[in-house]
Amino acid sequence: MDDDAPESAEEYFARIAAATDAEGRLPVAIEGMTGWLVYPYELDSLRVKPLDPLADAEDDRAGEDPATCWCASATMPPWATEWAWRNDDWVLTSAESTGAPVQLMLVPRRVHCDLTDVPDDLAADMGRLLVAVSAAAEALPSVGRAFAFKIGDGGAHLHWFFFGRPARALQLRGSPFLDWEENLPRVPVEVLRRNAGFVGRRLVEALGGEGPSWSS
Ligand SMILES: [Zn+2]
Repeated sequence: MDDDAPESAEEYFARIAAATDAEGRLPVAIEGMTGWLVYPYELDSLRVKPLDPLADAEDDRAGEDPATCWCASATMPPWATEWAWRNDDWVLTSAESTGAPVQLMLVPRRVHCDLTDVPDDLAADMGRLLVAVSAAAEALPSVGRAFAFKIGDGGAHLHWFFFGRPARALQLRGSPFLDWEENLPRVPVEVLRRNAGFVGRRLVEALGGEGPSWSS
């Protein structure tokens, strides 16, 4: 046996399954995030869903076959017809329904890739963009921190999410903000566009390109 071999999926999952109760539920880890002041839900009736069995394989995501991805079509998808900023290689769009002061998505326009296979020239641009988008979002007066996420369980085409965590709302700190955001009232679209437009104009100053696509 190779002591240096990484653990298998089955070995990892067996440890989780062994920690479940008779209903297949894990205990709520109140010593973790759920017990911290930033967790949005009260604990009285909180319980973890029963654990699903290990799947045979990962699900295909949207665009897993590049030929079926939106980028194989000549037209941009509806979510990218308006944009806070873009250049020839990247587009930064703004969410139209969010409780965050600003919520943006950064996507490569011309090359189909995920984070695991970004070509070197795009990877260099991506690094500068992650810095510049974060700095611009964090410069908004209503934003205390800019969060950046690459998750990628829904779509195979690389898409970075940026969320502005509301300034001075310390209860909304940390990763539970994604749960808070679902419960927060929707920010008016004109406010989202003003904030995303501020980010887009800063990117033009820092990196060139153009934006935003709207006039306000
Ligand atoms: Zn694609």
